Amino acid sequence: MSIRTRFAPSPTGFLHIGSVRTVLFDYLLAKKNNGKIILRIEDTDQKRYVKGAVKKLIEILNWLNIKFDEGPHIGGDYGPYIQTERLKIYQKYIQKLLDKDKAYYCFCSEERLKKLREEQIKKKQAPKYDNHCRNLSKKEIEENIKAGKKYVIRQKMPQSGETVCYDELRGKIIFQNKDLDDQVLIKSNGIPTYQFANVIDDHLMKISHIIRGEEWISSLPKNILLYQSFNWKIPKFIHIPLTLNKEGGKLSKRQGDVAVEDYKKKGYIPEAILNFSALLGWHPKGNQEIFTLEEMIKLFSKKDLNISPAIFDIQKLRWINGEHIRRKTLAEFHQLALPYYKKLDENLPFEKISAILHKRTEVLGEIPEMIDFFNSLPKYKKSLFINKKMKSDLKSAKRILSEIIPILENIKNWNEENIKKELLNFIKKENLKNGEVLWPIRIALSGKEFTPGGAFEIADILGKDKTIKRIKKGIKKLK
Ligand code: GLU
Repeated sequence: MSIRTRFAPSPTGFLHIGSVRTVLFDYLLAKKNNGKIILRIEDTDQKRYVKGAVKKLIEILNWLNIKFDEGPHIGGDYGPYIQTERLKIYQKYIQKLLDKDKAYYCFCSEERLKKLREEQIKKKQAPKYDNHCRNLSKKEIEENIKAGKKYVIRQKMPQSGETVCYDELRGKIIFQNKDLDDQVLIKSNGIPTYQFANVIDDHLMKISHIIRGEEWISSLPKNILLYQSFNWKIPKFIHIPLTLNKEGGKLSKRQGDVAVEDYKKKGYIPEAILNFSALLGWHPKGNQEIFTLEEMIKLFSKKDLNISPAIFDIQKLRWINGEHIRRKTLAEFHQLALPYYKKLDENLPFEKISAILHKRTEVLGEIPEMIDFFNSLPKYKKSLFINKKMKSDLKSAKRILSEIIPILENIKNWNEENIKKELLNFIKKENLKNGEVLWPIRIALSGKEFTPGGAFEIADILGKDKTIKRIKKGIKKLK
């Protein structure tokens, strides 16, 4: 059997960070097995439609490096790949269902349905259609239609027995048919619901594996019954667990970013977003945590998917982002970092700055703040000169800074190597600890407790004049 998976987002205007996992698993399962991954736009819910959304979606998926084999942007043998361009197809299939008596017209008004729902809620019953129109005669139906009455088309569920479903991760799941709602398949505007269009398309597009969120498990029996009504082969279903925030709640906009576009803007890189998303539910044996897309394809197996909820831990994403940054070559990193140097004094050696940032950056968007001290020394507190670990005091800091001025002034060829050599010589001669000397220098040069790069690297980047000026400023501060 050839494997065909599909990613079927609604065009909401952005890609939810939780969806990355779905599309990634679709991609991995297909690529691992020489299969195909299809992009299908599920835009039947016009209320949620956002202009330009499809283009944006394709752009961000491209940025993530998820390449599709078929889809609205590249075509394919099973198109169109946008559901509102397939309305004729759904009409044909709904007629087949009506003919088989597996679906029926329902003329209930909005008001009636609303009242029904309210009563059910009051009685603490699950909201469910009461099958009012299920047994209308052909004549009644024709008259209603002729009179111009609005209607929907509902799926006719069996009223007894059970529907046995399979989920690849959970095994058999059994549903009692009497609990199933005669759900709407075609809305009063003639457009299908997700429940209908999704099944028709998955069949016609020859999808072999459906990977979707766990929230769709309750739809599974209704989907299966539709496949059975048509006598179609049932694809394999893989429901992946929810992604929760650290408090165990839904990932929502209020607690942070939910759009991949937001993470991109902040300076997370695609490799990291994919790697992080994969680990929300997948983990191969062993301790490896950092994977390239190629490695994930090689290692991917459905067997390593979890069904317990995944926790979205931003600290972990930061760490993974840093690890992937470290795996770039310096030249690659330099290209990524350049856009963040806009405010940097152009006389500074950008390549050297990239070299120190490459070792320490977790999120690219934090670069400007990490390097602004190169431009100008920020205001800082004298107390920064006290290194808590070294028991150093302000007096010794002042003495040391004063003593190194002539040493620095004497360096003819100003570069990291020479600065290092001279300062280490001084440390040795004076029988001091590295930190006792390098800490106050770094503070005087940066005005910051944490810096990318140490004293030698910073001094080299600043140049001789600025270095000496800043150290003198530090000494003045310590008076
Ligand atoms: N359009 C559905 C969604 O956005 C797709 C669910 C599925 O993959 O079947 O949630």
